[in-house]
Amino acid sequence: MENKKLLKSGEFLVAEITPEDIFIPEEFNEEQRMIAQTCRDFLEAEVYPNMTNLEKGDRELMKSILKKSGELGLMGVSIPEEFGGFGQNFVTQMLVAETTGAGYSFSVAYMAHCGIGTLPIMYYGNKDQRERYVTKLATGELLGAYCLTEPGAGSDANSGKTNAKLSEDGKHYILNGQKMWITNAGFADTQVVFAKIDNDRVLSAFIVERNYPGVVIGADEHKMGIKGSSTAQIFYNDVKVPVENLLGKRGEGFRVALSILHMGRLKLGANVIGAAKKTITDSVKYANERKQFGVLISTFGAIKHKLASQVVRLYASESAVYRVSSDVDLLMDKLKADCGDYGRTAIESISHYAVEAAILKVYGSEALDYVIDEAVQIHGGMGYSAEMAVERGYRDSRINRIFEGTNEINRLLVVDTAMKRAMKGDFDLFGVAEKFYQNMDMITDGNSGNESYYDEKFKFIKNFKKVILLIIHGATKHFDKDFIREQEVMNNISDMIIETYVSESTLLRVGKIENMKGPDASSIYKEILDVKVYDAAAKIRKSAYDAVNSFASVELAGRLTRAVDTLTAVSGINIKDARRKIADKLIEDNYYRF
Ligand SMILES: Cc1cc2nc3c(=O)[nH]c(=O)nc-3n(C[C@H](O)[C@H](O)[C@H](O)COP(=O)(O)OP(=O)(O)OC[C@H]3O[C@@H](n4cnc5c(N)ncnc54)[C@H](O)[C@@H]3O)c2cc1C
Repeated sequence: MENKKLLKSGEFLVAEITPEDIFIPEEFNEEQRMIAQTCRDFLEAEVYPNMTNLEKGDRELMKSILKKSGELGLMGVSIPEEFGGFGQNFVTQMLVAETTGAGYSFSVAYMAHCGIGTLPIMYYGNKDQRERYVTKLATGELLGAYCLTEPGAGSDANSGKTNAKLSEDGKHYILNGQKMWITNAGFADTQVVFAKIDNDRVLSAFIVERNYPGVVIGADEHKMGIKGSSTAQIFYNDVKVPVENLLGKRGEGFRVALSILHMGRLKLGANVIGAAKKTITDSVKYANERKQFGVLISTFGAIKHKLASQVVRLYASESAVYRVSSDVDLLMDKLKADCGDYGRTAIESISHYAVEAAILKVYGSEALDYVIDEAVQIHGGMGYSAEMAVERGYRDSRINRIFEGTNEINRLLVVDTAMKRAMKGDFDLFGVAEKFYQNMDMITDGNSGNESYYDEKFKFIKNFKKVILLIIHGATKHFDKDFIREQEVMNNISDMIIETYVSESTLLRVGKIENMKGPDASSIYKEILDVKVYDAAAKIRKSAYDAVNSFASVELAGRLTRAVDTLTAVSGINIKDARRKIADKLIEDNYYRF
């Protein structure tokens, strides 16, 4: 692990790595597989049989299932033994997030508790706070919630009005305000609440217990999906919060909130692949049972196209998820030596990968929406029936594009954060971009004539990066300081970055499988890679065109689009056959097993 090349966040835009530098799901060890199996067994035994009652909004039932998962140890995965958990590395944490992701609204309640409800205290709390709260949150003795959003403060999280004032005797903060959309509000024992002390410009964070006088929990919201998870408003009326419950330093709350959001985005990226795997299995099982025109619908090309497209998106997402997860572990190992405290080291390593976290969040949530939408379609009229799991999945999926920062905010973050990191000197983005820009009329596709399969694919990815750099340079040159206000163009760039990162992750994974297991074992994955790169090239070309035609003169647009055409020309593959091969494996397995 130590010899792997570790890139900084966003550096992939200008740097190259090899398959050996990344971790792939095929490398899970026995212990990790057993942990994943325990999660799957738990969903089968405790969650799925109770799903109908959970959907009726039975808070007590959700609470009891959460507590059972705690008794089984599932809540302690991210917590060191010293504080009641069994301290697994980040890859394992993400595997647990993935596996429990197939648990519909249970998954939302569980992830909110284990992640945003518990980890701010683990990462930013002092020893006393960790001992009082984390030890019990890690076992499910206490259940947690995270209270950032307010009626007037959603995406603009720092604009909240909840206020804290030190009492005259200096023993308490007096908390007043209102939070909304709080997951687990109905039963959580502890809340991490963000508020401004006096007239501070930035937030501070507090640990608030549900039983403190003045804490009032509203009724559950009537939601489109994840109906089993409790979501409510919480009101704070002169709540006396002991000064010992200030989390981190005064004014550190916004930093806590942002870094926990980075963590939440990474975990959401893992969570949605669990949901997508279950959905694809539900889709193929139905397609393998349902007959029309005298044959199984899985024999129709139109259905194969859908099944294969579901697989490709999921596979790409999964490849990116575990690539980033192991980067976090590697960084954590590196930082451990400098920083004694586990919590601070963990959150520093996690929040370093802010660009990749936003990528996983956006790509994963949109991949799941695609997968579940096509699952409903494959089920035809039955997909619209509340009796079917895909109907629930369709409603439950939609929230992933809204919470942990909306996808609009995350798309902007991808570009903004990468550029800020480059300006800080983490890597040379602007120098390389300028070089390509100056030479745009000489750009070739880099084809040497007799490249190997992998050389060619690496060349495509390199070319996609060149397109991104050309557009970044062209757009920032044109808009200058106003670039940040040109959200449509930033979105175009973001989409290109996202497609490039997940395509590269897929390539690295398939290359590593071939290195590990040989060409026979990798052949089906090459089909996935072919489709992914083919689709990505088309998307990147479209996004680049949109960006260019938003700022360039006719003459410049002509030159830039010629370069874009050259750089996004991927060699002809029989895309229909590639998709059919992928679908045929899925149909034969009758289960998602890639
Ligand atoms: C079921 C559910 C559970 C939740 N759980 C929690 C929880 O446990 N704790 C918690 O604190 N919060 C929670 N939330 C809140 C959630 O994080 C917010 O809803 C989310 O951050 C968006 O805020 P908002 O709803 O105020 O939308 P707004 O911020 O009002 O956004 C409205 C629209 O404007 C867009 N927009 C906003 N700002 C910009 C911008 N600068 N540029 C471009 N577009 C922009 C958004 O992308 C969106 O499309 C939950 C929400 C839901 C629905």
